[in-house]
Amino acid sequence: MLKIKIEKTAHPKPKPTGPLGFGSVFTDHMFLMDYTADKGWHDPRVVPYAPIVLDPAALVFHYAQECFEGMKAYRTAAGRVQLFRPDKNGERLRSTHERLCIPPIPVDDFVQAVKALVAVDKDWVPAEEGTSLYIRPFTIATEAQLGVKASSAYQFCIIASPSGSYYPTGIDPVRIYVEDEYVRAAPGGTGAVKCGGNYAASLLSGEKAHRLGYGQVLWLDGVERRYVEEVGSMNCFFKIGGVIRTAPTAGTVLPGITRMSCIELLEGWGYPVSVAPLPIEDVMRADEDGTLEEVFGTGTAAVISPVGELKYRDRAAVINGGRIGPVTQRLYDTLTGIQYGRLPAPQGWIT
Ligand code: PMP
Repeated sequence: MLKIKIEKTAHPKPKPTGPLGFGSVFTDHMFLMDYTADKGWHDPRVVPYAPIVLDPAALVFHYAQECFEGMKAYRTAAGRVQLFRPDKNGERLRSTHERLCIPPIPVDDFVQAVKALVAVDKDWVPAEEGTSLYIRPFTIATEAQLGVKASSAYQFCIIASPSGSYYPTGIDPVRIYVEDEYVRAAPGGTGAVKCGGNYAASLLSGEKAHRLGYGQVLWLDGVERRYVEEVGSMNCFFKIGGVIRTAPTAGTVLPGITRMSCIELLEGWGYPVSVAPLPIEDVMRADEDGTLEEVFGTGTAAVISPVGELKYRDRAAVINGGRIGPVTQRLYDTLTGIQYGRLPAPQGWIT
């Protein structure tokens, strides 16, 4: 149990008016906690939102010893503010810390820290349909040291940003470019954890897809460039001949919390779900023989994002006539229903 000090701002900012975008407006406060070898994690505090001052030699700037999480607080129609499976973000942060040689933060402390910040900034959780408070926990290596090594000092920080509906004009299927040149992750690498370096390395491919007129890329595995892995920064599902298929997360795919929740819901509804390597050739063949029924991405930002078209080399598969399919829609309605308190939640999903 953390003893969190709270220092409230003397200068609250005006709340945004008008439509909210994503990730550029921040609340009045942030959570901070420091790590040093002698004290461990210490001095947990909620303080006014402000710049972080670091030594230019801080290890984070040079060797990218950094990681983050992404989650949301939702306001229900009754005005309550709730979190969706925050313990799962805490568990994922713990495994990311482990991969990056960063000392662990106990899951209970992580959840307590998120709740403390959201409680202080609760008036920043927007109420309009589809809006939320996006929460960004992150950890940076702060020791001033140019030798390549694990830092002996860290800062853990949580900031929050009121964000608009991902689908202000209704759910619009995305067009996806299947990337067979660059890769996102390789076995033994960092694909299964949430470190900033993964995202830096993905930017060039994203720009290429945009240039070619596509919204996102579908990543193939880093060894054979053959098996489907993720779409942009979402996990990816394919409904082929009645079976819902998704890549295993073993080593190269981020274990998404939306992905995990979708698998649990689908199994509960009685759909056959297969978590096994899926070659892109099988997806394109399913399109040719008419058994490719639905494709969708899953992630905190969009919840569910239907894929309307997949472009692989010289072939383009148009999925379900470019419209959202029934299973995709049912998952979207159920997950958002749970997150916004319109539907009852499975045990432990709502805090
Ligand atoms: N894959 C990647 C690479 C991501 O960045 C994200 C977003 N965190 C996801 C998948 C989806 O994860 P989640 O459902 O936990 O948001």
